[in-house]
Amino acid sequence: MALIVQKYGGTSVGNTERIRAVARRVARHREQGDQIVVVVSAMSGVTDGLIKLAKEITPLPSEREMDMLLATGEQQTIALTAVALHALGVDAVSLTGAQAGIVTDGVHTKAKIQNISPDEVHRLLDGGNVVIVAGFQGRTAEGQITTLGRGGSDLTAIALAAALKADLCQIYTDVDGIYTTDPRIVPGARKLPEIAYDELLELAGAGAKVMQLRSVEFAKKFNVIFEVRSSLNEAPGTIVKEETTSMEDVVVRGVSLDKNQAKITLFGVPDQPGRAARIFRALADGAINVDMIVQNASHEGGQRSTDLSFTVDKPDLLKASRVIEELKAEIGFKEAVSDEGIGKLSIVGVGMRSHSGVAARMFDVLAHEGVNIGMISTSEIKISVVIDLAKGEHALRTLHRAFLE
Ligand code: ASP
Ligand code: MG
Repeated sequence: MALIVQKYGGTSVGNTERIRAVARRVARHREQGDQIVVVVSAMSGVTDGLIKLAKEITPLPSEREMDMLLATGEQQTIALTAVALHALGVDAVSLTGAQAGIVTDGVHTKAKIQNISPDEVHRLLDGGNVVIVAGFQGRTAEGQITTLGRGGSDLTAIALAAALKADLCQIYTDVDGIYTTDPRIVPGARKLPEIAYDELLELAGAGAKVMQLRSVEFAKKFNVIFEVRSSLNEAPGTIVKEETTSMEDVVVRGVSLDKNQAKITLFGVPDQPGRAARIFRALADGAINVDMIVQNASHEGGQRSTDLSFTVDKPDLLKASRVIEELKAEIGFKEAVSDEGIGKLSIVGVGMRSHSGVAARMFDVLAHEGVNIGMISTSEIKISVVIDLAKGEHALRTLHRAFLE
């Protein structure tokens, strides 16, 4: 007998027909004698709808009350899923995050899980029930309802799988696994049978959104192996796990294009200690996330000066530009130019650790297509370049062909 945690996302429980399909799938596993814990999201659109309602009243609603409000989304789905299982003659009990023993810190709207006391879940499982747990929510030690940040049902599932020492954790979603790249842009994209935690983290960070990043970090930390698969068919999905030596045989696991970044360049920044610190401190204080940073070698010209470029998320560009303009007199740079027409192209793979010449090959491929490289950054398992957005999709297809087809 195995203990399985199955998580179903918003589209997988998007209407009552889908919820009945989930119940049928759970019932089939149950017939094989397994113990099953089901984690569900709110039905698709429900969380967004609730946020919209609150914002109709005031632009900045209290975060405690937002948690109170948003937690109701998942509570609808757990009850409906239990009812659907009952209709199939399967014993099932729904639990809120608090009832399932999920204890978090008190940071409303993005709480962190502190610990899980799985006694009640175990007791119900041992009593022959399917246990259905509301994703995305928990409670503080003092009993306040909290939520775990958008997409947080993934985290609930991974954390429960760790706490329950589950044999298997399955993340059911509306795609049937992790792909080498976005199949909507690249027809040759392939589903990966397996991927390392670090590769998924880098790919997701590079713009491919399949799972909540925090939940993948959590899975890595507690070594929770999980499978991403579709709730719409029976095809096996992608196994996400610790990197193995055989994984290094593949140099590039995936390529991605992030269209959601913008670049700011400061020309003529005086080359003196403390300037960069001042600039990035001001951006950090504005809660602006900076991704890539490139500074030129300084050049003489009366006074030594340098040019500094960095990227931020596109929605933060206006705010970032304002912060920079306010610093102009203090820093004494000549001019700031922002550019929204960029794309960040990345190749990712743990095999880069043991293979050389990967960057050279990537740059060769891009050069051959006449794609100019604006910025470069690398980690042990990733190479990213900033290029002209207009050439982004073509460049993505070309890199995929070169490394993955
Ligand atoms: N319902 C929450 C959201 O939409 C949590 C989740 O779906 O994982 O962000
Ligand atoms: Mg979701």
